[in-house]
Parts: sequence; C-alpha cells; structure tokens
Amino acid sequence: MPSRSALFSQRSLILALLILLACGFLATSLLGYFASRSAIRDGIINTELPLTSDTVYSEIQKDLIRPVLISSMMAQDTFLRDWMLAGEQDTQRVTRYLNEVMDQQGTYTAFFVSEHSHTYYQAKGVLKQVKPGTWRDAWYYRVRDMQAPYEINVDLDMANQDKLTVFINYRVLDYQQRFIGATGVGLSVESVVKLIDDYQRRYQRSVFFTDANGKVLLTGAEGGPHGLRAGQQLAESRELEELLARMPTPGAGSHEYQDSEGHSHFLNVRQIPELDWYLLVDKRETGALDRVRQSLYLNLAICAMITLVVLSLLHAMVKRHQESIESLATLDSLTGLPNRRSFDLLAGQALQAAQRDRAPLVALLIDLDHFKVLNDTHGHLAGDEVLRQFATVLQGSLRQSDILCRWGGEEFIVLLREADDRGAFDVAEKIRRRTEQLTFSYNDQPLRLTTSIGLSNLQRDDTLHTLLTRADHALYRAKQGGRNRVCSEMHGSEHA
Ligand code: GH3
Ligand code: MG
Ligand code: MG
Repeated sequence: MPSRSALFSQRSLILALLILLACGFLATSLLGYFASRSAIRDGIINTELPLTSDTVYSEIQKDLIRPVLISSMMAQDTFLRDWMLAGEQDTQRVTRYLNEVMDQQGTYTAFFVSEHSHTYYQAKGVLKQVKPGTWRDAWYYRVRDMQAPYEINVDLDMANQDKLTVFINYRVLDYQQRFIGATGVGLSVESVVKLIDDYQRRYQRSVFFTDANGKVLLTGAEGGPHGLRAGQQLAESRELEELLARMPTPGAGSHEYQDSEGHSHFLNVRQIPELDWYLLVDKRETGALDRVRQSLYLNLAICAMITLVVLSLLHAMVKRHQESIESLATLDSLTGLPNRRSFDLLAGQALQAAQRDRAPLVALLIDLDHFKVLNDTHGHLAGDEVLRQFATVLQGSLRQSDILCRWGGEEFIVLLREADDRGAFDVAEKIRRRTEQLTFSYNDQPLRLTTSIGLSNLQRDDTLHTLLTRADHALYRAKQGGRNRVCSEMHGSEHA
C-alpha cells in the first residue's frame, strides 16, 4: 500500500498538472479567441463599414450634390429674378426655362414659387397658388423664414408613393437681398435607395441618413435599422437607447452598442457636409463572431479532453511506477526488517561464501504460536504491534553479521554466520525464552506469546531451498511437539 505522503504528493502532482494544463489551454484558447474577435471587429470597423460608407457617399454626391449646384445656379439666375421683378409676365417664358433645366440636368422636376404672387410654377405650367396654413405648402413658408440659403426636403407624401422625391428648395433674393421666392429641383433618389437596399441585402447592414438632430431622412425601401422610418427620430427606437445615452446625436466615427436584445452592433457615422446630413452604416455582429465563439467552445472541449486523457495516463503511470518502486523495496514496511526479496539476495551471497570457505551457516525458521488467536481476540492492530515488538526481540538477540528477515506473516528467518550447531541452538533457545518471558503490550494491554523455531545447518550441496526445507521440517516438528520449542534438522546431529 502506498504511504500517505506518497499518495499526497501524487495527488498534488496531478492537481498541479491539472491547473497548469487548464491554465495553459485556457490562456491559449482565450488569446486566440480574443485575437480573432478583435481582427473581425477591426475588419468591420476599419474596412467594411467605411467602404460601404464611401460607396454610398459617392453615389449620394452624384445624386444629390449636383442638383444642389443646379438649384443654386437657378436661384442666382438673372433671368428668373428679372422676370419675377418685371411682374411675372408671360408664364411660358418661365415654364420653358424650367423645362430646359429639367431636360438638361435630368432632374425629376424643376419649380419656382413667387413671393409676390404666391404662384407655383413648374415645367408644365402653373401648378397652383401656395397658401399659408396648408400642410402641403408648409415647406414654402419654412424656406421663406429660414436663415440658410437652401434646404433639402425629402417628400414622403407624394401621390406617387414609390417615387421618393427629394426637393432642393433654394431662396431667391433680389438685388437688395430681399426674399422674392423659392426655386429648385426635385429629384428621385431611387438609385440611392436601390444601392442602400442592395447593401442591406448583400451584407446584412443597414444604411440610412439622418440630419444633425438625429431625424431619419432617408432609408432603404424597407426602412432603416430597428424598423426606423424616414421622418422618425433615432430616439424613437428602443434598440438605440444604449447608444444614444452615450451619443445623443450622430457623431462621426465608429461606435459599438448593444441593442435591447443584447446583440452587439457596429455603427459607422459619416458627415456629408454638402447636405449637412449624416450617413449611418449599422452592422449587427453576427455570423463571424458566433463562429469564433463556437470554435472557442470546441477548442475548450478538445483541451478538456486532452487534459483528461493526459491526467489519466499520468495517473496510471504514477501508479505503476509506485507499484514497481514498492516491489523494488528491500525493507518490510511493518517491521523495518529486510523483506523476502532482499533476503534472497543476502542469503544467496552468504550461502556462496559459506560453501566456498567451508564455513558453518545455520538457518532458523521462526513462527509465532497461535498468532491467529491473538489477532482474533485483540484485533489486527494488536497483531501488528506484537510483530513490531517481536522484530525488536529478534534484532536484540542477534549479531550484526547475522541475516534476519520477515519471511511473511508471523514467520521470520535468521541465517547465523560463523555459528556452530550448538551456538546456533543456543541463539534459537534464547529467542524462544525471551519471547516466552516477555510481556508484549498493545494499548497498555499485556499480551503473552510463544514461538516455535526450526533449525537446519548448511550442507555442501545445499541450495537455499533445500536448507530452508529442512528448517521447515524442523519447525513442523516443533509445532507438532506442542509449540514453544526449538527443533533442528542438523547434519549428523539432532537436538531436541
Ligand atoms: P500456529 O501456532 O500453527 O502457527 O498458528 P497461527 O495462528 O500462528 O498460524 P496461522 O498460519 O494459522 O495464522 C497466522 C496468522 O497470522 C493469520 C494471519 O491473519 C496472521 N498474520 C499474518 N500476517 C500478519 C500481519 O502482518 N499482521 C497481523 N496482525 N496478522 C498477520
Ligand atoms: Mg505461520
Ligand atoms: Mg504461527
């Protein structure tokens, strides 16, 4: 049985290895996980979203910024101003002008509203009179009173709903910088919307525009992220709560936020200074990071399996090693005497030497009497203690040069070197007598015991086996003879 300290060190070795492997595997797995996570994040934040933003931006430039320039040109056109100041004579002149702009610049519509007559002119002629208090004409009064030279207005309430139209409303001033009307073009942003839809479908990202106050201006055909529609405020979306708490209005740059369901989002915001709009590209962190997380779990599972296999292998190895060390041990763990294994070695050498030198050698086979009864009456631990004390008796009765071993159980063997038959018999008798006289003790209980001993002396052609067989015969006779006695099977002479 392995000793307690060996068991302890074995356990702490396995525990230390378990901790080491677990920490190592955990560290490498987590490092790998975080490295790929941040690579994916960087890719999204630094490349994917800005690229989308760039492409949409250049499209919007083409679609919206050129019309702003056209409208500005119209607002400063001396023809339009002079015609208006001259009393708006001959409507055809202005409708032809508006038609020309529409045709040449490819806009959806072109218009002029006079402050003097409140007439709304367009390419096809006079459309109507603008009236204050009419919601459809609210834009005109807004433009009349505003500070900025122009506004861009996404009209959502057109009769033709699927043709989303953006109006650029420019203030027209006379030569004394007084407001005399509004002009501009209306255009379809279908191509921008189509692009937005395309991006949303292909790359699972939302593309939309807001003004500086966070009002959604333009989205794909199916709306913006989290169901936001043009005209709504970003703050109306619960999903953006966490983001807006940090950033009330869109700020240029890259942002990360969690929606109300706990999904991570990346948001790229870019200002379009020409329009004073903000272009927002929003991407929900899904697929790629989920896969990375899954591979982390797989990694950890594999590591746990490897750890388990390594530890059980190690455990088996340590156990086997311990067993082999124990089998190599030369001392009996209970009495501290040499065990049978080391006796074989010592006895072999002693036999050889004695036979070579023709020196005498006597074997004593010693067996405690009725030891089983002692065990049964006082318990196994008492038996162990008696065996220990008996071993001390034996050691005290022998010379340094004698060979003593625990043969097994309650049997011991002694080889007496350089002892003649008589001397050997005396030694055996001394052991028998001392045992008989001694009071062993276990837990302060007195225990009495006797022992039987068989003797044999070495013959010229003896092996250890034949020598001990004769000693065993002698012991048998001692037991048969009533125990507590010494019997011998000596060559030429027999005692007792
Ligand atoms: P006999 O006089 O014929 O030798 O009788 P015995 O009872 O001594 O002999 P037997 O061979 O019947 O019993 C030997 C006993 O020794 C049985 C066994 O349980 C006990 N024994 C063997 N080794 C140990 C040990 O290491 N410790 C203890 N406590 N008992 C042991
Ligand atoms: Mg026995
Ligand atoms: Mg016995």
